[in-house]
Amino acid sequence: MHQLTLAEIARGLADKKFSSEELTKVLLARITQLDPQLNSFISLTEELALEQAKAADARRANGESGALLGAPIAHKDLFCTQGIRTSCGSKMLDNFKAPYDATVVSKLAAAGTVTLGKTNMDEFAMGSANESSWYGAVKNPWNLEHVPGGSSGGSAAAVAARLLPAATATDTGGSIRQPAAFTNLTGLKPTYGRVSRWGMIAYASSLDQGGPLARTAEDCAILLQGMAGFDPNDSTSIDEPVPDYAAGLNGSLQGLRIGVPKEYFGAGLDPRIADLIQNSIKELQTLGAVIKEISLPNMQHAIPAYYVIAPAEASSNLSRFDGVRFGHRCADPKNLEDLYKRSRGEGFGPEVQRRIMVGAYALSAGYYDAYYLKAQKIRRLVKNDFMTAFNEVDVILGPTTPNPAWKLGAKNSDPVAAYLEDVYTITANLAGLPGLSMPAGFVDGLPVGVQLLAPYFQEGRLLNVAHQYQLNTDWHTRTPTGF
Ligand code: GLN
Repeated sequence: MHQLTLAEIARGLADKKFSSEELTKVLLARITQLDPQLNSFISLTEELALEQAKAADARRANGESGALLGAPIAHKDLFCTQGIRTSCGSKMLDNFKAPYDATVVSKLAAAGTVTLGKTNMDEFAMGSANESSWYGAVKNPWNLEHVPGGSSGGSAAAVAARLLPAATATDTGGSIRQPAAFTNLTGLKPTYGRVSRWGMIAYASSLDQGGPLARTAEDCAILLQGMAGFDPNDSTSIDEPVPDYAAGLNGSLQGLRIGVPKEYFGAGLDPRIADLIQNSIKELQTLGAVIKEISLPNMQHAIPAYYVIAPAEASSNLSRFDGVRFGHRCADPKNLEDLYKRSRGEGFGPEVQRRIMVGAYALSAGYYDAYYLKAQKIRRLVKNDFMTAFNEVDVILGPTTPNPAWKLGAKNSDPVAAYLEDVYTITANLAGLPGLSMPAGFVDGLPVGVQLLAPYFQEGRLLNVAHQYQLNTDWHTRTPTGF
């Protein structure tokens, strides 16, 4: 039963082949048995899961239906869940039980999902390897000596290991797409404003966006359907109708114009990944797509701009964790200053502290113009490059990452080496565009992802292309041995 996709689960439940309660018990047992190898969960919510599963079964018995009714999922541990620990991967929030549900959580619960638990993540979503979590690193089910990617590494490892069919995640600079690529999953970062950020603990508010991680594009469509939509509680949420994503999966790719940026294939890209990307291009051509070389000339400036803007916003967002309003409080403070200093010093790990310092520096008087303002100008140039490209093409295709998943610990002593791995993903966040990563093959037994980007609110187009590709390839069906 653990091999079933969300779409298959929906059919099985509708046909009464099994109940949500039965499925939930199978998956909870599997998590208990296998997760010690992976560390993909921070909290398990067995009681809540069984309660929700029974309620979903009752709703089905009463004639209700729905693709998510009775579907087991998990939430990245930065979505607030009422009465349940919401740690954000940090000691700072180890004892934080959220007083309310994030909009994503309440919307999915209303659709009938069953929450199995909260997944591990890089501390405050800062990282690309899930090694900055206070709860320990997550292992990649494809090779337990390698990282699963981050920051949504727990969601990715759990879904890849078939502990559950799908999970929520968030993407500030690639944290849905990069772990999807590293673990052979399909992950979608929606357009900024498509999914409510209310109750999603903020890292960099102008870049953060929640989205689905699953094995197939079809499942991403199903989960996104339950997450997307306008939310008056989020001032950056956009009041734009949500299309029927599943209904749009079967469009023909005949004549689809795919842009391949020449800058994507420069030094730094593993040539074996370049070959796999070429294969995926050929596959899409046989489905009718037309390939066009394009240029994104400002791409080279995106990493420095991102690593100014994201820390700047983080330094401001994380000021609330001071041991008074929110978060860990040190023992026996001598005075107010000592309380702030020690609470924050003890509560935040080294990567978070590094980013707060960089961000505060970039925003300080005298440096603001040189760093933050300059980075914002680059951000606009990056967006303009995309707008020019989308005058000529319908989607942009390239690698999701320059290299496959690295070994645990390999980049710990050099944070900049990890930052450079974000080169293909962060531009979509800077521009606010939707992006999807899907399985495209393997290098040394480790999965490789191909990334598709589309104009604003064209999530449906990305899912359509990915679904058609997955009907004609079998990379996404491969299962890691031992799971
Ligand atoms: N690796 C990037 C960072 O550390 C992106 C993380 C994310 O998307 N949350 O900022």
